[in-house]
Amino acid sequence: MPTISDQARATLKRLLELKLQPTPDNYRRVFESLQKGAALPSAEPSLESPDWGRALPRLLEQWERSQSGLTQLQKRQQLDRLAALPTPQAQWRELEQLLERWSALPARSGSQSASTPIETRDDALSRAGSEWRELWLQTLKFGVRPFCAHDTAQRLLRELMAAAENAEQAADLGTQAREVWLAIDREQSTEEAVRNGLIELARLLLDHLGDLVPQAWVGVQATAIREQLQTPLVPERIESAQNAVRDLLVRHSVLRKSEDDAHHTAKALIDLLVRKLGDYAAEGGEYNQRMEARLQQLQSSREWDEIRDLVQDVLDDSRNMQQRSGELGVHLAEAQRQAQAAQERIRSLEGELEQVSQQLQEDPLTGALNRRGLDAEFTRMQSRVVRQGQPLTLALLDLDHFKAVNDTHGHDTGDAVLKALVAQAKRLIRPSDRVARMGGEEFMLLLPDTPVQQSLVVVQRLLVAFSDQTLVQDSTGRRIPLSFSAGVAELCPDEDFAAIYQRVDAALLQAKQAGRKRVEFAVPCDGAKAGGSLPKSALRFFALRG
Ligand code: GH3
Ligand code: MG
Ligand code: MG
Repeated sequence: MPTISDQARATLKRLLELKLQPTPDNYRRVFESLQKGAALPSAEPSLESPDWGRALPRLLEQWERSQSGLTQLQKRQQLDRLAALPTPQAQWRELEQLLERWSALPARSGSQSASTPIETRDDALSRAGSEWRELWLQTLKFGVRPFCAHDTAQRLLRELMAAAENAEQAADLGTQAREVWLAIDREQSTEEAVRNGLIELARLLLDHLGDLVPQAWVGVQATAIREQLQTPLVPERIESAQNAVRDLLVRHSVLRKSEDDAHHTAKALIDLLVRKLGDYAAEGGEYNQRMEARLQQLQSSREWDEIRDLVQDVLDDSRNMQQRSGELGVHLAEAQRQAQAAQERIRSLEGELEQVSQQLQEDPLTGALNRRGLDAEFTRMQSRVVRQGQPLTLALLDLDHFKAVNDTHGHDTGDAVLKALVAQAKRLIRPSDRVARMGGEEFMLLLPDTPVQQSLVVVQRLLVAFSDQTLVQDSTGRRIPLSFSAGVAELCPDEDFAAIYQRVDAALLQAKQAGRKRVEFAVPCDGAKAGGSLPKSALRFFALRG
């Protein structure tokens, strides 16, 4: 009985005779045929001649199929091995076995079924080409055409689409396509320039509307509308700006109509009065003449009856005159009443508009100015400072440990504290001063005609009053400790809001770092710290403890 090593040697020998590669598959086949004692495959196997015409479509089919447990890389490696076989017969045999093995494997789930008709490479290319052409035409039609607003780009696009229907190669369309893109680019640049120009025009008009129309409320509304038109522009913003402009026009036309009505009424009344006065004067003249004549008659008259008639006439005449003068008085009073009513209506409309405009500039919670109001007031005050050379001081206040107030006593109590600070500030500052809410628990005081040392005293006074007031929480009866820190700075020539804000903010930070509940001078524009020459007695106001 041959040993395993004998059998292995015999198998290798046979492989050599057959000029087969010592691959595991060949080894196994030869080994098995030797085992079974079957006729060994001869070096020139008596295989029927290779039918490549049938084999190649099968190979293509199996190549494109997704077999379970067989990757595309493995297929390629197996084909590479096949190609390396030394004889065509060996290659053919290997191919047949390969196809058998591949076709025996089940299809991978989700892959094309084996019965799908096989598509040749040319078919696939032409199908892919027509799909691309269709996609390209659809893209031009639905993706590009909407951007062709004008004749030139539209014509060029039509020509490109017609050419794309017939073109053999996509590359043939390159030059034409570039012309379309360039035309669109030109149109878009023009449209963008027009759009930007229109926005600029709208801004310019809104900027100067306040100068063109004397009523202050118009300027405020125009500023609010301009803010809606800040970039980036989105349709919602444009729509709300349009609504605001419409609203402004309606209000203005209502007011103008009321003014027109009032003018009309006043004119009609003056006309009536002039006529009545004329009549009255004419009647007065006649009355005097009649009176004169009657007096003369009276002097010459001797008859009692005549005298009695004359006296009766005089009495009637004067009663008439009295009545006429009474009527005139009623007319006058009525005219006055109507003129007053018209004036009041206009005043109340203007008052309403002023109120709406004021609300636009106010923080609804505290009644302080909001950022918009602050900007408007700062601009107004700044131009006065420049014109009249007077000082303008800004003080930035920030409540101390306000988060803790909210956390301990609730948000509503926090809101009440904010309101209390503004109320206190309004009580203590001058009518020409302003208080504005920068946001959150940060406030700005605008103090015109006030040098910085004096401002420090004002803010300190406010700090004392604010921290002295007793805010008690209802539920617990606990007293809420209140204080703020602040920085003050005097506006320098040519300084804008952003620059002075930076200075007061830095001073405020210093006040916080130094322990809070205190006011700090900002560094002046030339760099040295302000307040150096402040008298010693004032310095005790710097920090409050308690
Ligand atoms: P600091 O002394 O350093 O300023 O501390 P702070 O707690 O005051 O400052 P912080 O910035 O940590 O907290 C500010 C708090 O102000 C947090 C926020 O919830 C509160 N806040 C902002 N706006 C409002 C408001 O309108 N109402 C109320 N109740 N709280 C507000
Ligand atoms: Mg704070
Ligand atoms: Mg703050």
